[in-house]
Amino acid sequence: MKNINGKRVFERNDKEPNPDGDYVLYWMQTNRRFQYNYALEYAVGWANKLGKPLLIYEGLNCDYPWAADRFHHFIMEGMEENFEYAREHDLNYYPYLEDEHDAGRGLLYELAENAAAVISDEYPVYIIRDHNKKVGPKLEVPYITVDSNGLIPLGLTDKAPYNAYFFRKIMQRNFIDCFTHPPKKDPLDELENQQTIELSDDFLAKYPSAESHLSNKESFISSLPINHDVGKIELQGTRQAALGKLGQFIQYGLSKYDEHRNDPDINASSGLSPWLHFGKISEYEIVDAVLDHQPEEWDLDDITFNKGSTGGFFNGDPNVDGFLDEVITWREVGFHFAHHEPNYDQYDSLPDWALESLEEHKDDPREYIYELEEFAQSQTHDEIWNAAQTQLREEGIIHNYLRMLWGKKVLEWTPNPETALAYLIELNNRYAIDGRDPNSYSGIFWIFGRFDRAWQERPIYGKTRYMTSDSTRRKLKLQQYLEKYGDQQSLDM
Ligand SMILES: Cc1cc2nc3c(=O)[nH]c(=O)nc-3n(C[C@H](O)[C@H](O)[C@H](O)COP(=O)(O)OP(=O)(O)OC[C@H]3O[C@@H](n4cnc5c(N)ncnc54)[C@H](O)[C@@H]3O)c2cc1C
Repeated sequence: MKNINGKRVFERNDKEPNPDGDYVLYWMQTNRRFQYNYALEYAVGWANKLGKPLLIYEGLNCDYPWAADRFHHFIMEGMEENFEYAREHDLNYYPYLEDEHDAGRGLLYELAENAAAVISDEYPVYIIRDHNKKVGPKLEVPYITVDSNGLIPLGLTDKAPYNAYFFRKIMQRNFIDCFTHPPKKDPLDELENQQTIELSDDFLAKYPSAESHLSNKESFISSLPINHDVGKIELQGTRQAALGKLGQFIQYGLSKYDEHRNDPDINASSGLSPWLHFGKISEYEIVDAVLDHQPEEWDLDDITFNKGSTGGFFNGDPNVDGFLDEVITWREVGFHFAHHEPNYDQYDSLPDWALESLEEHKDDPREYIYELEEFAQSQTHDEIWNAAQTQLREEGIIHNYLRMLWGKKVLEWTPNPETALAYLIELNNRYAIDGRDPNSYSGIFWIFGRFDRAWQERPIYGKTRYMTSDSTRRKLKLQQYLEKYGDQQSLDM
């Protein structure tokens, strides 16, 4: 990878490759796909340089924070698809599923003992951030993480962007360079050494391949020490499902995106966040597919730097413009922020104006106060809030606009903003299929002022933005949404 893509590569130690290693190891942590994946592409490059085959390891432990049936199902569906693909294409793919706490301890280090080098995914939040920090110094071979998260390489910014406008300027300056250095569609086509790798019997006795569990998900998952109350959802965790969703959005949603993205009764947003989160689809593919739907005469020369403002940059269909602003600027500002800010999930990482103002209003009287589990079970007085929470609890997602209202009301109905933050992180990451993502922290911290500006001062909210259920009800088309997720009793009243 050259040019701009050099800024995606993070060397996590200064070890030399082991010339006697049996393979180059790609540890698939977050980009759980074989296509359009810079990290996999980079691993193939190393394998070719060293003349080694490539071993791809994808695992799932049972002690990750918020471990539950919901996430296990989604991830295992994707692993099963990867397993089938690898079998059809003769790839060295090793899936592992931990069946009890700590069963997988030491696995990566044993695999790395026979590796010439280890490549993995760069990711700025959650346990992946900590893994990447810890693993490098412990290995005797190079440990390199590669950013395949978005279009703008994480190494391109030099500090945490404090708002979307600031990041959009960087994006606009670099978009064409980044977009014209895309990840390869099928990086594994370029792998030179196709030798089959046999893992030793001793290793497999200790860490058996997950093959049989993948085709027997229900019973395997039910035996695990994870949270079984957060159940499986309808969405399928496969790449095929992600591509289907993208196709559907382009056909039915994109042309209405600008006008109706916020309306729960009109399906105009993409719904792609679960698959983006688990790395089943790359942002590049989405941007490329959407740009194909610019007016016929449009091309990249029509793009004009617009000093960070929305609109007037892509200069084509406003729906395309609006959507790309979300999927590039709003999605990536959170990745870049967390990359530069180790305290990305701490209250005191909020901007000073927000901290000061929330502090001043900390003791303002609250009309309603709820406990975490009352929120969790949709037991507030507010019909719209309860409906959003019911959708989240049962289906793993909340409609776009309602997610903002959902967060703002928790700030209003808890004893102080620190408690509100803790509850929101817990509720979002316990139930949301796209939770535990840089965007989870962008969205949740936005409630408290991150990436936003000061507004007119009000009780409890201080200068952070204020939202009400009444104005949401007036603004949005909600009837069908409330019929589906609302509390029947209050609807009947
Ligand atoms: C309190 C709160 C919590 C949130 N938690 C999460 C979360 O856990 N995971 C998550 O992915 N997003 C989260 N968001 C951001 C946003 O609500 C979702 O990304 C969006 O609703 C996903 O739906 P979609 O895929 O249909 O979006 P679309 O409108 O189709 O947008 C396409 C993509 O752009 C990105 N995007 C869109 N809106 C935003 C935004 N406001 N901020 C950052 N990226 C955006 C997402 O990757 C999304 O999939 C949260 C927002 C709030 C206010």
